[in-house]
Amino acid sequence: MPSYNLARLLEDSAVKHPERTAIVLGDTRLSYAQVDRAANQVANLLVSRGVRPGDKVALMMPNLPHFTIIYNGILKAGATVVPLNVLLKSREVAYHLDDSEAVALFAFEGAADLPIGQEAHAGFQASPGTREFFVVTVDPAAASPLAGAETFGAAVADHAPDFATVRTDEDDTAVILYTSGTTGQPKGAELRHRNMRDNALVSKELFGADEHRPDTYLCVLPLFHSFGQTVIQNGAAAYAGTVVMLPRFGAQAAITAMLKESVTFFAGVPTMYWGLLGILDETVDVATLARNLRMAVSGGSALPVEVHKEFERRFGVVIAEGYGLSETSPVAAFKPLGAPARPGSIGTQLPGGELKLVERESWNEVEGTPDAIGEIAIKGHNVFKGYHNRPEATAEVLSEDGWFRTGDLARRDEDGWYYIVDRAKDMIIRGGFNVYPREIEEVLLTHPAVSLAAVIGVPHSTHGEEVKAMVVLKNGAAATGEELVAWSREQMAAYKYPRIVETVDALPMTATGKILKRELR
Ligand code: AMP
Repeated sequence: MPSYNLARLLEDSAVKHPERTAIVLGDTRLSYAQVDRAANQVANLLVSRGVRPGDKVALMMPNLPHFTIIYNGILKAGATVVPLNVLLKSREVAYHLDDSEAVALFAFEGAADLPIGQEAHAGFQASPGTREFFVVTVDPAAASPLAGAETFGAAVADHAPDFATVRTDEDDTAVILYTSGTTGQPKGAELRHRNMRDNALVSKELFGADEHRPDTYLCVLPLFHSFGQTVIQNGAAAYAGTVVMLPRFGAQAAITAMLKESVTFFAGVPTMYWGLLGILDETVDVATLARNLRMAVSGGSALPVEVHKEFERRFGVVIAEGYGLSETSPVAAFKPLGAPARPGSIGTQLPGGELKLVERESWNEVEGTPDAIGEIAIKGHNVFKGYHNRPEATAEVLSEDGWFRTGDLARRDEDGWYYIVDRAKDMIIRGGFNVYPREIEEVLLTHPAVSLAAVIGVPHSTHGEEVKAMVVLKNGAAATGEELVAWSREQMAAYKYPRIVETVDALPMTATGKILKRELR
């Protein structure tokens, strides 16, 4: 097997473009050479603490330059990166550390309303297999905010900025990504060095990335999730672009950063597009934003057709929608570069990858376009190795000949463009009819008072399940549940319109904008 280490994406750009800005955070600007040298210090630190090739090292941090530096330092040492969601509580941190067998954890100190450091430290103390804990502070010289914990700044200070990257096989596991947890117990998807590399390199064909015309990326997607990690962090490193980080998404802060840094590439989840739309008024210099912006990418969950059209109308920029999962590095389908968008579609299969629609039970391919609905199965360079220490769970979704079953239902048109119908698990069966929540949510969003909608099935004595919607109303709008039920009856067939509509203040969401339907149920 050829050797390859994912840290090469950064290292090659540091050799070719050492002075180019790699990362911007507020007034801090780090060049490619600086980021690479800092990552070398991390690798030296890890080796000095006995971290061996193949060991797992966890990282719990919002979007900060440290994320990229530590991520690459872990890779350089030949170890595997285990990024953790910054919202995890100590009990969950301990679960992830134990499950991944992490030997070390790097965590950001956090803030009063998001005490990442405290939760991480308590999780570390409850996980006997994890030997090392480093707390990253905003001020590298500051004392540790956590009793007894070592600061990252002090730990790396004495280590040399040169390091000979450990040779790894391209099939070794580079990253373990815990799946988003909208379904059941989190499992660690193992991604190989080549999976992550090839999915970052696809930026050339999908987004027109070019190291001689480097992009400036706004990084508001959390880097611990595969979407931000591959499309922004690793995609930028592969083509020597500049990553402008925001530790947290805020629509106003995003617009300000886009104008200040002349951002050319924006990637977000649908709720971010919806958030931007909410503040795009006459005080915002939309013309300048739109002139700079070369790519606007959406993924992670379905971009409602209404939001898509409204954004393009007001912003004048085409949104390219894509689709993928943590298990597929993540990009698996995307709007072909240069093609006009087809709202509601996730685009076509990836160059070098394969997609097909299969029957849930038999894995046989479904016939017929554009109406046949099947489960998306994926094969190609992006498909993961398996779930860490879970051969049965792996065998359920990954066939011996390399097809990965996603649990997502879709249709395909004559041109090979795919349309997600829904997650198979979210489908409602009411009185023997299949009801797809997404379709009903899309209809509800066309109501002038509705800004967000989630549809679930609730138990029903005669129909088996009943269709229930929960909606968030637009600011200042008024509508009762009964009015929305009556309106829905006019818009949709009798077997599927929601009989219950509840108005709520907010819907529970993951850090990547997926509505947590399990909690709603
Ligand atoms: P994760 O592993 O957290 O990336 O979640 C993957 C899941 O996100 C997929 O199985 C889909 O259900 C959903 N997803 C991703 N992109 C899209 C999209 N463009 N449209 C609809 N669902 C999507």
